[in-house]
Amino acid sequence: MKIGIVGAGPAGLTLAKYLDADVYEREKELAVKPCSWVVLSTDEIKLRRDEILFKIRKYRIYLDYKLIHEVNSNEPFAYIIDKKKFLERLSDGVNVMFNSYAIIHKNKIIVNGKEITYDRIIDARGYQALPPSFTVPAIQYDTDFKTEEDTLNSYFFSDFVGYGWIFPGKYGAKIGIGGDTSFNVLLDRLNYLLKGKKLNYGVARISISGLKPYTRRVGESAGAVFPITGEGIRASIIHARLIGKHRKITSSRLYKIISIQTNIINNAKRSKKPGEEISRIFLGKK
Ligand SMILES: Cc1cc2nc3c(=O)[nH]c(=O)nc-3n(C[C@H](O)[C@H](O)[C@H](O)COP(=O)(O)OP(=O)(O)OC[C@H]3O[C@@H](n4cnc5c(N)ncnc54)[C@H](O)[C@@H]3O)c2cc1C
Repeated sequence: MKIGIVGAGPAGLTLAKYLDADVYEREKELAVKPCSWVVLSTDEIKLRRDEILFKIRKYRIYLDYKLIHEVNSNEPFAYIIDKKKFLERLSDGVNVMFNSYAIIHKNKIIVNGKEITYDRIIDARGYQALPPSFTVPAIQYDTDFKTEEDTLNSYFFSDFVGYGWIFPGKYGAKIGIGGDTSFNVLLDRLNYLLKGKKLNYGVARISISGLKPYTRRVGESAGAVFPITGEGIRASIIHARLIGKHRKITSSRLYKIISIQTNIINNAKRSKKPGEEISRIFLGKK
């Protein structure tokens, strides 16, 4: 059976190994899409030493720019990974065609005007496959600000679901924001967080609408993101494994956790202070 996958993110690459599929990627290399590269320390994702940039032992939570909570741990509970290196490993042995903007039409993938017929086509385009109403906007800068290398700083705002962040990054810090409000509000709040010389920036979107049981989509394009944290690397890889092993998505732990988080978000959105509600979850108060 000839299988084609569109999108060489964590989901597309993981699934390609199970299905022995061709993968089409619009960019000229891996890991171009804006992402802060945080992965929780769990058995679900095995990282090689050279794929870990920073070990995270501290977490600070701010609400309306005021520090409200700090967590310290002896053991690392998360990592900032080198996503490019990590994806390169996932792509080992996979036939990835770069610079290949693909359009899916029935059982054909159309790339640069050329039609290729497949028995099965999987959409792994991430947020780019989703309607805007399923996602929220996000903006992120790389700056040379020397933030603490073992600390994640998350900035919640009372008036919307989402958060800003200052995380350690390859060049100093990744400083960004994403949430259920307008782009201009996000930009305004982000301006108060920005520190250091701006080196580059990216704009993207994140799914917060929950995992759907599609059979021809994998990863974020099916909504495989933990919507409270925006953590999609782990979720999209777990989703790809489930699809690759033909497991029923709706009875999986991933589906249950994402559904619970989606409900929490939808309830918070109806409250007077949505961001405060969500920040309370991080404090273990809900
Ligand atoms: C600003 C920001 C920060 C984030 N930070 C984190 C984080 O720290 N930790 C975390 O776990 N998650 C984070 N996420 C979410 C995470 O990046 C995604 O959920 C995850 O990468 C999804 O994986 P995926 O393989 O499903 O899709 P993606 O990683 O989005 O991969 C999809 C691929 O498809 C390609 N593509 C799209 N359209 C086409 C087309 N027409 N033809 C060919 N190729 C196409 C894209 O170029 C891309 O490479 C963040 C997201 C954003 C926006």
